[in-house]
Amino acid sequence: MISVHDSSVFENRLARVRAAMLQQGVDVLLLSVGHDLPYLTGYYAMPLERLTMLVVPVDAAASMVIPRLEAPRVTEMPSVFSLVPWNETDDPVAIVAKLIGSATTIAVGDQMWARFLVELLAHCPRAHYRRAVDVVGPLRMAKDAAEVDALRAAGAAADRVAVQLHAGDIPLIGKTEAQVSADISARLIAEGHDIVNFAIVAAGENAASPHHHAGPRVIKHGDIVLCDFGGTMNGYCSDMTRCVHLGDIPSDIADAYAVLHESQIAGVAAGVVGAPCESIDAASRRVIDDAGYGDFFIHRTGHGIGMEAHEDPYMVSGNKRLLEVGHAFSVEPGIYLPTKWGMRLEDIVVATPGGPESMNFADHSLVVL
Ligand code: ZN
Ligand code: ZN
Ligand code: ZN
Repeated sequence: MISVHDSSVFENRLARVRAAMLQQGVDVLLLSVGHDLPYLTGYYAMPLERLTMLVVPVDAAASMVIPRLEAPRVTEMPSVFSLVPWNETDDPVAIVAKLIGSATTIAVGDQMWARFLVELLAHCPRAHYRRAVDVVGPLRMAKDAAEVDALRAAGAAADRVAVQLHAGDIPLIGKTEAQVSADISARLIAEGHDIVNFAIVAAGENAASPHHHAGPRVIKHGDIVLCDFGGTMNGYCSDMTRCVHLGDIPSDIADAYAVLHESQIAGVAAGVVGAPCESIDAASRRVIDDAGYGDFFIHRTGHGIGMEAHEDPYMVSGNKRLLEVGHAFSVEPGIYLPTKWGMRLEDIVVATPGGPESMNFADHSLVVL
């Protein structure tokens, strides 16, 4: 899946992971399903019941414990890891425990099935368990040039769908939200995404629910239509939100949208290297608060993005982590008036030495169709 990388990329990532383990006193890192595994090995484990586990001792070679039937899917890289296939009648957790040996501090990936951790606790009862996110997370957050290129390409593909939306190429009036969601999904694939992660379509009063599930509501003249969509392309995600208005914009919606647009610009502008993540949220929120809509902006301003649609770092009050070169995140303020309407405006932004770089360029205004 990660065609942009060769084995030297994984060797380099693993070396940096081991340096972080050494610094944090972690003896063994265990990664199962989730995105840390492909980040370090290029392999996406099937999220099924059989155990796949990368075992990375701080001072010895890494092994990937894998069901024998899935081993042919893996490109083995001797300089990164070797394969340890297990048979249907083996106990894979016992195999992992043997590889752990007498290690005392074990870092575990967030998405490992609880079942395997519970079984591991019985095998290694005296070990201390930590979250692997502290070891791998800082590396994953700081995207390298190839990763930013992949985000840029995914963003451009999503942008092309937004342009189609703004041009009126996507039929809206008389269609259900679900039909429009399916249309946008097909266009995300047609524009180059491998997978669609979501295509939220929320019309009129439904747009007041930020994560509304596109349903049977028929879209009609006079509606505001919120479209929040994204997918994965070459292993990296897109995610953007645009709203359109069907017919003349009532003054209350026009006023609120002007505030929303200004808020989004302020959030993007705040995304400079060295700024605390919470300051991006504060910059966007201040504009909405000052205009009197503060009670109707009911979520954080943004989330990190990369191999996952939502990942660290989060643009939320209290997150004092400082933005670094290569941190990629959404800036997506919203204003939601229950039972009336909602609106959100979202771009993906990467912190670069030259300032915040947007991955999305489609018209930011409330386009009338
Ligand atoms: Zn969301
Ligand atoms: Zn979104
Ligand atoms: Zn988002």
